[in-house]
Amino acid sequence: MFDKHSYRERDPQISARLRVQHKATRHDQRSQNLRLVLQCILGEGSISRADIARATGLTPATISQLVSQLERDGLVEELGTGPSAGGKPPTLYGVNAAARNIVVVDLSDSERVASVLDLKGTPSYQTTTTSDSLQGEEGIKALYRTIDDLTEQTPAPVLGIGIGTPGVVDSSGTVIEASYLDWHDVPLGALLSERYSLPVHVINNSRAAALAEYSYGEHEAENLLVVKVGNGVGAGVLLDGRIHGGEDSAAGEIGHVVVNPGGLPCYCGKTGCLETMAAAPRLVEALEPHLDTTSGTIRKIFSAAGAAAADGNEAIQEIINNTARNLATVLATTIAVLDIHRVVITGVVSEFGDPFLDRLRDEIDDAVLSTLASKLELCYGRTGDQAVRMGAAALVVSQELGVV
Ligand SMILES: [Zn+2]
Repeated sequence: MFDKHSYRERDPQISARLRVQHKATRHDQRSQNLRLVLQCILGEGSISRADIARATGLTPATISQLVSQLERDGLVEELGTGPSAGGKPPTLYGVNAAARNIVVVDLSDSERVASVLDLKGTPSYQTTTTSDSLQGEEGIKALYRTIDDLTEQTPAPVLGIGIGTPGVVDSSGTVIEASYLDWHDVPLGALLSERYSLPVHVINNSRAAALAEYSYGEHEAENLLVVKVGNGVGAGVLLDGRIHGGEDSAAGEIGHVVVNPGGLPCYCGKTGCLETMAAAPRLVEALEPHLDTTSGTIRKIFSAAGAAAADGNEAIQEIINNTARNLATVLATTIAVLDIHRVVITGVVSEFGDPFLDRLRDEIDDAVLSTLASKLELCYGRTGDQAVRMGAAALVVSQELGVV
């Protein structure tokens, strides 16, 4: 998964897809050039030193030194020789994906999925924890148990831990507010880095999904609005390839916008929030009486609902249409403010299939200026149920190695 990008030195802000821009110029030039070369090798899959020099603008002598350094670190390995251009066939280099592991946990849902990944995002170990006690202090202890287990299953040194969590997360990794997890001002990043003595990166789950879609979804867009509908509803906003965090790290918290005043109570304390109308728990409750089978994962329930709607089940069609209308109410305003063309829907509602997307498009069409509606490119996410973990891993790799 970390294999299709071009390269440039990166800056410390969250940014996913990177481009060749210029050589490093600051005092830590060697370190930055190492990152540049690593990103180049990762992006190409296999490449000769001469081609790295051409792609990065660095001298062949510098490239030789840097590639040797990366080989000594175990991050790069020889892959054989490429076609000769007349002389000696060039040696090709590639990233040794197995050289480092990344531990990632997605805290989005009651089915908590955690993985050990290699540098290309291939999982070598995965667990799913289903428990009623994933909230509050118990939730932190459960997370420790999960990571304890994962860190014992890592064949290579761990580059870092990536956590995708619902709620508002600040840049230090403190979860300011995650009502669903009953976490308030929990310094999760600090707790985990102290316990495991590893770099830890904590990111809001919708933002993680947005990073994954931007990095690996091949959307060909620099601006993305990625909406995640699962246990909660949230959005990740990418403007010019950067996550827009907002002044208090709360940009994208659309799940607690009230769409039904006086409606159902929400765990955030208000009533009638979008999450009380369009998040998975409420939808499962509404769908179950109309489904033949209600066993299995939440994703299977949504999949069965999509199939039943396609077979003409009118009650389920109405639930799906209402969900689209409620979501569109908030998205229309968001789109009108941001003027983003590409809107990506991720999470379990993708199991509803095309009719849901069509209905959502119609509802948004009816609610915004035709200038905005005519440019709208609505689609489902392409990173599936791995989106949050892929985004968290991309964040660890980009922050720790300067590449993604
Ligand atoms: Zn709420």
